[in-house]
Amino acid sequence: MRRILAALLCLGFLAFPVRGAEEQKYVALTFDDGPSGKYTHQLLDGLYDRGVKATFLLCGYRIKDYPDITQRIFDEGHEIGFHGYSHKNMKDMSRRDIAAEIIDTQAMLPEGCKPVFLRPPGGCCGDGVRQVAEARGLAILSWSVDPRDWATHDTAAIEQSVLKNVDDGDIVLLHDMTTSSVKAALDIVDALLEQNFRIVTVSELAKTRGVSLKPGKTYACFPKKDR
Ligand SMILES: [Zn+2]
Repeated sequence: MRRILAALLCLGFLAFPVRGAEEQKYVALTFDDGPSGKYTHQLLDGLYDRGVKATFLLCGYRIKDYPDITQRIFDEGHEIGFHGYSHKNMKDMSRRDIAAEIIDTQAMLPEGCKPVFLRPPGGCCGDGVRQVAEARGLAILSWSVDPRDWATHDTAAIEQSVLKNVDDGDIVLLHDMTTSSVKAALDIVDALLEQNFRIVTVSELAKTRGVSLKPGKTYACFPKKDR
């Protein structure tokens, strides 16, 4: 009997760390439309203080205005993805124009920065976008949690919308373009860390889930396989 009890105790000890590892929750925060000369430094400062990496979907015309901020995003280990050069809807553009949006943006990125994601402006995606993305080795990045932060200045509403809906493997859509968005983003980071979420870049999230990204394919979240 004593031997059985000892064996059960042993199994119990073994089970706890395994279960703990299985229950680790992951989430990726993504920021569209930047860099912003007004707000991105503030966001980067907050992320740095918290030791958190995010994914920034940048527009070429803004990188041109803020190369130093773009360099900082890259140097601090965040992921950078394409969000078009002009932020115009790509859905009805010719394939040549879509490719130009990407090539012109790539030309302005820091040396060594090779994005693997394209998030078409507004998430508007058609066959042309998919074909160009595939040809250029880019996966298409969608999202699974959208607090519509661009449509409000209500920080609490943005936070509640995210925290109510977020789950393991989600990709959250935000914009570093207003004070309310940046403040909400940092409060969301604090709340998620408190709930034992690990906040990672989208590429890391995919890697964590054993997904190898396919060019031209759209990804909105990376849930556990058994979810
Ligand atoms: Zn956008």
